[in-house]
Amino acid sequence: MSMLDNAVQSIQIGMEDFHEEDERRLLSAIRNLYAGILLLFKYKLQQLSPAGSDEALLKTKVLPAVDPTNGTVVWVGKGKKTVEVQEIIERLNALGVSGVDWKLLTALQGIRNDIEHYFSPLPNERMKEAVANSLHLITQFCEPHLEERPVEILGQQCWDMMLSVATFFDAELESCKANLESVEWPFQEVRDATSHMVCPECESRLIKVVDTSAQRDSISFLCQSCQCESLYCQVVGPAVEASLAGFNHWNVRKGGEPATCVCPECGYDSLLVEENKCAACFYEFEYTHCEWCEESLSIDERQYSEGTCGYCQNRYDRIMAE
Ligand SMILES: [Zn+2]
Ligand SMILES: [Zn+2]
Ligand SMILES: [Zn+2]
Repeated sequence: MSMLDNAVQSIQIGMEDFHEEDERRLLSAIRNLYAGILLLFKYKLQQLSPAGSDEALLKTKVLPAVDPTNGTVVWVGKGKKTVEVQEIIERLNALGVSGVDWKLLTALQGIRNDIEHYFSPLPNERMKEAVANSLHLITQFCEPHLEERPVEILGQQCWDMMLSVATFFDAELESCKANLESVEWPFQEVRDATSHMVCPECESRLIKVVDTSAQRDSISFLCQSCQCESLYCQVVGPAVEASLAGFNHWNVRKGGEPATCVCPECGYDSLLVEENKCAACFYEFEYTHCEWCEESLSIDERQYSEGTCGYCQNRYDRIMAE
């Protein structure tokens, strides 16, 4: 049986089990669904592996070898260990597989790990999210990169089942999105981070603000999945961190300052440097400019000095030492 057949069978078994009320079957549903999706991506890596490389792209360990026929160096897969999620994403990205929202795959991995480690069953909405994520990954990947229509490889019955669950989940997600967008957020950076907001308890994206007319830290969240209520800071802190992580990384690499720094009050990387205010807990540094020369203080100087820049402090120290 080919790797593609394996992938399809695994997804089909997953969807059959998904219907059952039995918790053990639900566990097996998520396991199979996740395994099937990974196999789809691995199938692509198998296809792209050069002939005679022992499926190099699928193997964690790849070693150089000399081809005896022409003396060139080739990379050959070694051992039994095959690539996992992060390597799959890196390799497919490097090979030009685009248009796949990898966040959906890491979220699916998160749901699978949660279900393995929690003692109580995951809320129903999380299970639906797993199916919805799988469906979107299949749609984004199959036709553009495998030249296969999802319904043709999975069969009408399985595909219809996935569609009905995913449609339901997507509608709920849309309604959460509309709710979050209607809130008057205290900072633009928080508004930009709404797509990163998740329930701190179960990590579901299905969260809503309880009272959309609430302001600042009186804003609170209710998870539509596990029904847990969360405070403004608990949701906004991690969301702003995640939303600005990429920008910060590149800006610092280019020699600039990050847009945020770690807040000494709440501990999230959500203190907006320009506004001098934490987007999550509203903490602010006492000094933003040097008391003596009025130059803007760097993040370190704001944190550790008593309102003087390094230059003035040095000069002062030198004069005092004379
Ligand atoms: Zn939750
Ligand atoms: Zn803070
Ligand atoms: Zn100064």
